[in-house]
Amino acid sequence: MSAELKRIVIVGGGAGGLELATRLGDKLGKRGKASVTLIDRQQTHLWKPLLHEVAAGSMDLGVHEIDYLALAYWHGFVYRVGEMTGIDRERRVVKVAPFVDEEGRQVTSMREVGYDVLVIAIGSRTNDFGTPGVREHAIALETAGEAARFHKRLVNACIRANTQDAPLAPEQLQVAIIGAGATGTELAAELHKTTRQLVAFGLDRIDPDKDIKIHLIEAAPRILPALPERVAKAANELLKGLGVRVHTGARVAEVEAKGVRLADGTVIPAELVVWSAGVKAPDFLRDIGGLETNRINQLVVRPTLQTTRDDAIFAIGDCAACPWPGHEQPVPPRAQAAHQQASHLVKQLPHYLAGQPLSEWHYRDFGSLVSLGDYSTVGSLMGKLIGRNLFIEGIFAGLMYKSLYKMHQLALHGWIKVGLDTIARMITRRTEPVVKLH
Ligand SMILES: Cc1cc2nc3c(=O)[nH]c(=O)nc-3n(C[C@H](O)[C@H](O)[C@H](O)COP(=O)(O)OP(=O)(O)OC[C@H]3O[C@@H](n4cnc5c(N)ncnc54)[C@H](O)[C@@H]3O)c2cc1C
Repeated sequence: MSAELKRIVIVGGGAGGLELATRLGDKLGKRGKASVTLIDRQQTHLWKPLLHEVAAGSMDLGVHEIDYLALAYWHGFVYRVGEMTGIDRERRVVKVAPFVDEEGRQVTSMREVGYDVLVIAIGSRTNDFGTPGVREHAIALETAGEAARFHKRLVNACIRANTQDAPLAPEQLQVAIIGAGATGTELAAELHKTTRQLVAFGLDRIDPDKDIKIHLIEAAPRILPALPERVAKAANELLKGLGVRVHTGARVAEVEAKGVRLADGTVIPAELVVWSAGVKAPDFLRDIGGLETNRINQLVVRPTLQTTRDDAIFAIGDCAACPWPGHEQPVPPRAQAAHQQASHLVKQLPHYLAGQPLSEWHYRDFGSLVSLGDYSTVGSLMGKLIGRNLFIEGIFAGLMYKSLYKMHQLALHGWIKVGLDTIARMITRRTEPVVKLH
């Protein structure tokens, strides 16, 4: 690779970073106009909004996981495995920790990767707000590995209950989901469906309606607090109809080994606890390289997506706090925002390299959709023409929900591959939601 090529380094190959690396690789890397490098601490990519389906067991990881190395080969960018731990802005280098495999063997040593333009897209983590017991007893759906771990524990809990001679302990086969945002609400519906499928595979000593209990716990007065009231009401009614126990206005004081203790002293017994309440950017970002960060560690960026103190460093996705005109809060941490920001930078970074002025990015909120397993999808679409939210549900809402993932796939694979794959699925009727047993 020519030493004179400008070096674009993207850290984090998620909803935003991987789309950016792929499209810049096609546009600049393949044509020898710039070198594009992606650094990610994982070796494969799974679009994060699919994680609750992995946890519930309704999605086959192998079908949706993408190998970074192979994608890099096909799209003209370089992939380097490893976790970014810091940056040196003076020397324009990213510090990458040694990569160690699952068996504890070191694969790569500590490195520094030089850049001319750096895009930080490392996403967010769940925010446990320092609640005691969360780290020890709850699982957060942050990575495919954690989602798969939850699923394994769920399957084993069902098998254990089916084979034991003693009666069920109070917490057995009870799942507590803390946080009724979109993730927690979707997980509750998905778990209701897959636990029934799992039991139908021959765990005939379990009566799902009587034995399996799913609790959805939310501190706010209603579920889906960030979404319009009508959407929350429709989701709430559906969940209650399924028998999901919805606890609103319930603040969690502690997660214990056998359940969740609320601030009012109530204990909700639970064998499995999922924490999905709130997000924050990774702690190490706080003041990284002297850059400006906010109280949840997000890098503060200008409307051009450049960080406030360094023109050569951009941030996109959940780890960026981007102003949202007309709103007190920055742009929300959503896949649609990360996708739009990546598309914006695909056009703007060539301008930056050429020393030209940059256009500002404006968030287009298309609304929010919540998938309630196979039961329904509810949500609101921003009606530009009438200037307010449109409530939608059912098949149309389901198609809109799936379209966000299709857009991500299109950015990575292009129309031909995604089109052929969709047709193949329709012909073979290979629907994805088949419950997994391991
Ligand atoms: C279960 C679930 C359901 C969701 N559903 C929806 C939905 O329906 N609609 C919606 O709009 N949004 C949804 N979201 C939110 C959405 O997933 C995020 O907003 C989106 O993924 C953010 O994209 P990103 O590129 O910022 O980060 P991510 O997609 O999280 O990617 C971050 C990448 O950075 C890598 N990384 C992290 N730290 C480092 C490091 N130090 N060094 C190197 N690499 C690093 C990670 O391995 C990862 O590949 C959901 C989230 C969850 C967890």
